[in-house]
Amino acid sequence: MPEAGESKLKKTLSIVGASAAILVLAVVVLRATLLAPPDAGDLSRKRTVVDIKTGEVIKDFPIPENSAMPWPNPKTGENTLVQGEACFWTKEGKAKLEPTYVLLNEMIGKTGPTICPDCGRTVVAHNPLPPADLLREAKKAADAKK
Ligand SMILES: [Zn+2]
Repeated sequence: MPEAGESKLKKTLSIVGASAAILVLAVVVLRATLLAPPDAGDLSRKRTVVDIKTGEVIKDFPIPENSAMPWPNPKTGENTLVQGEACFWTKEGKAKLEPTYVLLNEMIGKTGPTICPDCGRTVVAHNPLPPADLLREAKKAADAKK
């Protein structure tokens, strides 16, 4: 009976279709939840900022929505907070886990390279991390101290 075969095929196809839809949905949900980097929302709203007048570093500063740098310092009320650039290098050429936050020259209208006051290296916007093996070494050293 060709009709029975056809309806079986239709049934199979609809099951395959539904499964595919469920799979796509699952992937979308997973991407949005489990696979998303932890606190992605928080990270985009909290930054480590530096006060261009006082040099004060404020960690996890909540960035006001739809605002542009410089952000107002709640202590002084002045718009003097800009994003700090993290430097993970030590003077000895090793990595560290707690970075030094550096104020970039370009943020304050200065020209020339920005030099990290801690390690003496040049710091740039989106400052690159030290190589992974150096970071692992730093992590190991930190764990050993615990
Ligand atoms: Zn440095």
